[in-house]
Amino acid sequence: MTQNDIQSAKLSNGEPLQVHTHLFINNTFVPGHGPLFENINPVNEQVICKVQSANEQDVDAAVEAATKAFKKVWRKEAAAQRGRYLYKLADLMERDKIELAKLEVLDSGKPFMVARDADVADSIACFRYFAGWADKIQGDIINSTYDKTCCTVLSPLGVVGAICPWNYTIMMPTWKLAPALAAGNTVVLKTSEVTPLAMLKVAALMVEAGFPAGVVNIITGEGHVTGSYLSSHPGIQKLAFTGSTHTGRHIMEKAVKSNIKKVQLQLSGKSSQIVCADADLQNAAVQVCVGAFINNGQSCCAGSRILVQEEVLDEFMALFMHQVSMVYAGDPFEDNVALGPLINKAQFEKVLRYIESGVEEGATLVQGGQRQGDTGYFIEPTVFCNCTLNMRIMREEIFGPVAGIMSFKTLDEAIEMANDTDYGLAGGVYTTNLETAINVSESLEAGTVWVNCYEVFDQSTPFGGFKHSGFGKDLGLESLREYSNLKTVKIQRTSWAKAPALPKNKL
Ligand code: NAD
Repeated sequence: MTQNDIQSAKLSNGEPLQVHTHLFINNTFVPGHGPLFENINPVNEQVICKVQSANEQDVDAAVEAATKAFKKVWRKEAAAQRGRYLYKLADLMERDKIELAKLEVLDSGKPFMVARDADVADSIACFRYFAGWADKIQGDIINSTYDKTCCTVLSPLGVVGAICPWNYTIMMPTWKLAPALAAGNTVVLKTSEVTPLAMLKVAALMVEAGFPAGVVNIITGEGHVTGSYLSSHPGIQKLAFTGSTHTGRHIMEKAVKSNIKKVQLQLSGKSSQIVCADADLQNAAVQVCVGAFINNGQSCCAGSRILVQEEVLDEFMALFMHQVSMVYAGDPFEDNVALGPLINKAQFEKVLRYIESGVEEGATLVQGGQRQGDTGYFIEPTVFCNCTLNMRIMREEIFGPVAGIMSFKTLDEAIEMANDTDYGLAGGVYTTNLETAINVSESLEAGTVWVNCYEVFDQSTPFGGFKHSGFGKDLGLESLREYSNLKTVKIQRTSWAKAPALPKNKL
């Protein structure tokens, strides 16, 4: 730990908190050679601290540390031991979960209880889940030829680069770190420059858990500098990215133009929630509200397009608006606060522009639409009805607390409306009819479909999008494969009867 690494910060309730502000390379907090950047608390718009950023020299140092650790230590480590490190880290995170939750709040402004019971709890569970997998990664034996033994072997890729967004500051990095490490890779992680603090605390816990130096390196800095250079780095074998589709395109281009590294892209979304006439409307109202406003709408799978079957529109609206009226944004440490502020000024202004566009394009504003208070980036939960699919609020990812409602006549029409988007991340359907549930979930062009619930996650089920929402899966057994090379081995058993000679013109 270098002298000025630890700084004193203040939560919005005045409570002091120590934060790491340097890069984490080779198990040491070191200053970066890039410019310092300010970290702003979105609750009160105050500067929390200044954080170091990594330039090309620092990224090279992180990749070199990860390469050395991969070759000399991690790939030779017993798989069960890799799992034990992950279990130990999860235990330490459990011990320090209050501090981690406060750091998540400081970074993102989300309610403390949400940070503790969702973000941090999910991350701990995720490390434990993949710890259990570390020594259960297996290939297959394929008995297709009588004189050869054929098998598939899963081996680590090497050094994985991970680039993460700001909306779940611990969870998104964990979804990459846990499977990558369990599968035997070492990692260079770039966190979002908007939320750099929480993962640096996790870095300190990794040292305490005994992780060998260089296995995990965490760097901070601007996307177009630090992230861009990491994406094109020849020492990285895979780039795992979560963020916007816009940045995803750039990363893919960099990957192709450098060493054709493997790429996994978890990108933007514009998801629909379909409420059928036969739904339990009370449950639908609750779930749709969660789906639209969870994390202040700053969720990749926010179900902000709400499609309701014509004959129950009025009844559903009454129940839904009642739910929305109970969603209260405010200081993260106040009781009953479900939403925090938008993450920063740019996002706050962007969301207000979307609200203006909804009004201009002829949607009816039935709730919210205004800034809330005069400090912090708060916007009221906002609902539009009488929307059409060509409106920007119905086509583009807003990433804020804004939902639009439309009605439909038939299920075929609802499916067509839901699929009328470039994105394909998630969707929801509310119905009491099993056949409808199956038909709609099969027809939606989306990586995850929730039936009678929304935004329900669990580390054992894979998550990832279709279309412009990207490809590759986080979580579940699938994600271990994302971080492994699959090799085929064929062993000729010469002691067996000689194989019949092949005709010359065949392989
Ligand atoms: P973003 O694309 O602006 O940034 C994401 C990360 O990429 C940050 O660390 C940023 O510094 C980095 N970056 C930016 N420009 C870069 C470049 N040129 N080269 C390399 N890296 C660069 O996204 P954001 O605003 O941080 O996050 C919001 C977006 O993330 C939304 O679109 C949301 O839908 C998406 N998201 C998707 C998922 C998912 O699982 N599909 C989950 C969470 C968030």
